[in-house]
Amino acid sequence: MHEFEQEISEAAGLLLKTGKAAAFCGSGISAESGIATFRDPGGIWDRIDPMEFGTPEGFIGALDRNPGVFISIFFELLDMFEKAECNPGHKVLADLENRGVLGSVITQNVDNLQSEAGSAHIIELHGNLFRMICLSCGKKKMYERKPFIRDLKEKIDLLSDRCLASLFTLVPTCDDCGSITRPDVVLFGETVQELPRAYHAARDCAAMLVLGTSGAVYPAAALPYEAKERGAPIIVINPNENAFEDIADVYIPMKTGVALPLLLKKLKEIGDS
Ligand SMILES: [Zn+2]
Repeated sequence: MHEFEQEISEAAGLLLKTGKAAAFCGSGISAESGIATFRDPGGIWDRIDPMEFGTPEGFIGALDRNPGVFISIFFELLDMFEKAECNPGHKVLADLENRGVLGSVITQNVDNLQSEAGSAHIIELHGNLFRMICLSCGKKKMYERKPFIRDLKEKIDLLSDRCLASLFTLVPTCDDCGSITRPDVVLFGETVQELPRAYHAARDCAAMLVLGTSGAVYPAAALPYEAKERGAPIIVINPNENAFEDIADVYIPMKTGVALPLLLKKLKEIGDS
């Protein structure tokens, strides 16, 4: 017996009887891979206001006022994203997709870990940090996470100084037009990507797994309500306080990296019996 065994059995039963589910993932699943979130106390974001940092104007202003803070945070972020590994939760989501239990993964994370774990049908609401977009022609190019960071670090080591102007010379340029690129992620105040596809997935799914998301960031946070309204049962897995307790048909207050492997084990047991 483990904690929440009953809830996990219920969730497995629901997933087996309803048809293709969608997963809706928040920062909690990435946090279990060592990726700090804006809300972690004492984290890097405590040293800079994310609202200021997260808009193009605020970003430029923050750089201007305090380039040293930005550079030290930038190096910490490089290390954090280089060291991160897919966790058991990511791997179970890919497995559930292969088994036909899961139809799509809607994620608010930008770290590419879900794709690396093997999920194929991913809707990335906030973009992907390792896909660069050309600021002139809009061409997008995906890079491999670890080699991309390693290459960037090697180039940084060769710089004569680490000032902002030198760091900016290392930003990749567009293969087509030679213009500067930036990571294809959604900053505060910018429009969420792929929202129509995400709504379609939420309206279409037979059940929704809501994983490690607080429900504080709209419009993404509306998706579980959309699924619920269309009659899909909602399975919430989250050890932290979140907005979805009220609409959860099954509520499992555990880490996704612990609960999802137990859920998969239960699915196999029921499937075999
Ligand atoms: Zn271009």
